[in-house]
Amino acid sequence: MGGGISGLSLAHFLSGSADPVVLEADSRPGGKIRTEKAGGYICEWGVNGFLDNRPRTLQVAGGLGLKVLRSSDSARKRFIYLKGHLRLLPENPASFLTSGVLSPLGKLRIALEPFIAANKDDETLAGFASRRLGRQAYENLIDPMASGVFAGNPEKMSVESCFPKIKAMERKYGSLIKAMIALGKEAKKSGKGPVGAGPGGVLSSFSGGMEELVTALRTVLGERLKTGFRVAGIEKIEGGSGYRVHTEKAEAIEADAVVLACPAYEAAKILDGFDKGLAGLVRDIEYPAVSVVSLGFRREKLPFPVDAFGFLVPFREGRKILGMLYDSSIFPERAPEGHVLLRVMAGGARASALAMLDDEKLLSLVMGELGGMLGLKANPDFVRVFRHERAIPQYPLGHAERLKKMDEKLAAHRGFFITGNAFRGIALNDCIDNSFALAQNIGKML
Ligand SMILES: Cc1cc2nc3c(=O)[nH]c(=O)nc-3n(C[C@H](O)[C@H](O)[C@H](O)COP(=O)(O)OP(=O)(O)OC[C@H]3O[C@@H](n4cnc5c(N)ncnc54)[C@H](O)[C@@H]3O)c2cc1C
Repeated sequence: MGGGISGLSLAHFLSGSADPVVLEADSRPGGKIRTEKAGGYICEWGVNGFLDNRPRTLQVAGGLGLKVLRSSDSARKRFIYLKGHLRLLPENPASFLTSGVLSPLGKLRIALEPFIAANKDDETLAGFASRRLGRQAYENLIDPMASGVFAGNPEKMSVESCFPKIKAMERKYGSLIKAMIALGKEAKKSGKGPVGAGPGGVLSSFSGGMEELVTALRTVLGERLKTGFRVAGIEKIEGGSGYRVHTEKAEAIEADAVVLACPAYEAAKILDGFDKGLAGLVRDIEYPAVSVVSLGFRREKLPFPVDAFGFLVPFREGRKILGMLYDSSIFPERAPEGHVLLRVMAGGARASALAMLDDEKLLSLVMGELGGMLGLKANPDFVRVFRHERAIPQYPLGHAERLKKMDEKLAAHRGFFITGNAFRGIALNDCIDNSFALAQNIGKML
């Protein structure tokens, strides 16, 4: 139950081998994926895209007959806002030496990374990055990345749960630089592309926006997707196998297997009358608020170039926005001819209240910040505010322990599963990969 990308893709993967039904509370499916088209602009309410380096998402899109749209070449240019200037993020080790993102001392500190002892245990992202790369690299590079992806607080985020690939590199090679050299050599031998500590890949979407994926899944699922069905509770069928699912409006539905694919705070309510221990484990997963403010301007009104991906703002800068994406440069045709579409993010774990300001106050805050930071004085020709009161689930230190305890409890309920972005990866690609793995498990069980 839950018709976000986790639930929809799971039902799609199961369709060949089982008879899945998706119960979605809202009148429209897609969860955090929704595209709004107005005034010649194409705005993303939530999910902006996915990286093209995970084959499963591309296979799903291809199988549905969708044409994947890669971001433009100019979107490789990304900036960090530092002390009143947009500083270009280095794209490779050579440009790193000349980059203004770190001082000479900050760069030297990174060069010492291979000599820093490895820590096998989990730690906060802030602790990990400061220890391995130095305080400046943490504050100027890692902290804004954590805001950009998780809208999180790196002082609380678990490096193991949020960036498992990076922690694994430290564990295996003792150093991130040594890991990149070793993996680079392996990749060269096997003829693969360059390897980095980051997620890699090219940001991708569809020409009509991310909702194309939801619409295509909705079409293939047909009657199997039931919108307007809010699940209220579940129970085991006495003396038999399977479950009875109670919704707020219809008669109970019986199923051999049940998967919760709704946000953790909703799952907790459903689980309350079923397994209080499980409910307790998922209930306190935090979802800070984030607001997305989409702004359209005539190109000549902007006092800064927008042929790039956009910029992120380190927390230490003390600004009130997390960053801004140049949407119509990333994906062309997102704005009418001669116009530009920008997307500002505000809120997150360290400033949730800002995201909940009313539209007028939020817009005035955003325009004030863009004026102070970039000298933007013109009023936008187009504005949309998209609010996510509970936006992105956080994986703090102890998250892995929570998952372990959940697995122990789930083992007692054959045919009952929990998935979604609150557990094993927040990105759309993670949701699709996790749903694929789960479909395989369910397939074996049925
Ligand atoms: C502002 C924002 C921007 C993002 N941008 C990106 C991005 O660019 N790239 C990326 O990879 N990820 C991004 N994400 C992360 C994104 O949320 C996930 O990748 C993914 O969309 C989550 O899908 P999901 O199905 O797990 O959860 P959701 O999308 O939250 O779906 C859960 C569904 O469950 C339904 N539901 C809730 N309660 C019930 C109930 N009781 N009964 C039945 N149904 C119920 C909800 O209505 C919803 O449809 C972004 C998130 C936010 C908030």
